[in-house]
Amino acid sequence: MKYLDEYRDPDAAKLLLDEIRRVTSRPWTLMEVCGGQTHSLLRHGIASELEGTVELIHGPGCPVCVTDEPDVDFACQLAQRQDVVLASFGDMLRVPGRSGSLLDVQTTGAHIRTVYSPLDAVKLARQNPEKQIVFFAVGFETTAPATALAIQQADQDRLENFSMLVSHVRVQPAMEMLLQAPENRVQAFLAAGHVCTVMGYESYDSLVTQYRLPVVVTGFEPLDLLEGILACVRQLEAGAARLENQYARLVKPAGNRAARDLVQHVYQVCDRSWRGFGVIPNGGLELRPEWRRFDARRRFTPIQSSIEDIGECQSYEIMTGHIRPPQCPHFGKHCTPESPLGAPMVSSEGACAAYYHFAKANN
Ligand code: SF4
Repeated sequence: MKYLDEYRDPDAAKLLLDEIRRVTSRPWTLMEVCGGQTHSLLRHGIASELEGTVELIHGPGCPVCVTDEPDVDFACQLAQRQDVVLASFGDMLRVPGRSGSLLDVQTTGAHIRTVYSPLDAVKLARQNPEKQIVFFAVGFETTAPATALAIQQADQDRLENFSMLVSHVRVQPAMEMLLQAPENRVQAFLAAGHVCTVMGYESYDSLVTQYRLPVVVTGFEPLDLLEGILACVRQLEAGAARLENQYARLVKPAGNRAARDLVQHVYQVCDRSWRGFGVIPNGGLELRPEWRRFDARRRFTPIQSSIEDIGECQSYEIMTGHIRPPQCPHFGKHCTPESPLGAPMVSSEGACAAYYHFAKANN
């Protein structure tokens, strides 16, 4: 298979759907970890096709959705300083912090530049030596190699005016936290194929062994997802718990060695607070001591905010499968993509945005 259309073939999809229904003797509850998978499941009507056969819980794999409010608040504070330009991916601009979003402060004159790559932010620093350029580094292990590269480039260029607000998160500790929760409903995981492209999937062995549940590394196209679901269901029906790789055309067991080495060279594992979850042990990456001169948290002092999280957004309940986005009382009323109350309605990978855009089309 070489072309995208082959992974969207309706006849092949129907065969897989029929096979999933045929082998399923009772409803099973699976979690697709990545927001990109959620969007594909909703966009292509797979979630509704499998209703009553397989329940899909939309997991925490949307990095924008889990970036903590205080980090967004600090980014807003930085952007409002006269001497700073805050560089960020576009998705982050509309994510609400406790006192508004980056877009809100931009309308009052804050200095914010949307960039497509962390290296664009390094270039900004070279071009604007009179300004401090801070890059808001969010994302899972998939984006960490690019931000690590930016740090190395800034070091090579001897830039004194570049730093990063690092909010990188790690997906496996979040999966473990979900499994440890007393109210856990997840019986098998579709692991996020793109994270495994970088990090490999060998580390999931311990998850499979310790919690005795199937983990299938899965891609993002309809046939990828259906194959991943079928592999999970077959294991569950057989009482098995194995690690499988559905996304073998891109994912190797050890991942991308060069990218992993780069991440390890620049970052170390740390505890991190996730929006909706609280602190997840080992749930993030921070700069290693030798790179901390590029750490915006050290270069600038956050102003402590007395504003509490107003708690309207029910993203935790959604990411643990206890409610679906339309069951949130704010869905489509006070919370829409144009006027989001929570990050899952903002992001291109957010579960609430996926339901808002695609669920109606499938009903
Ligand atoms: S609909 Fe809005 S408020 Fe409700 S969970 Fe989703 S993002 Fe949060």
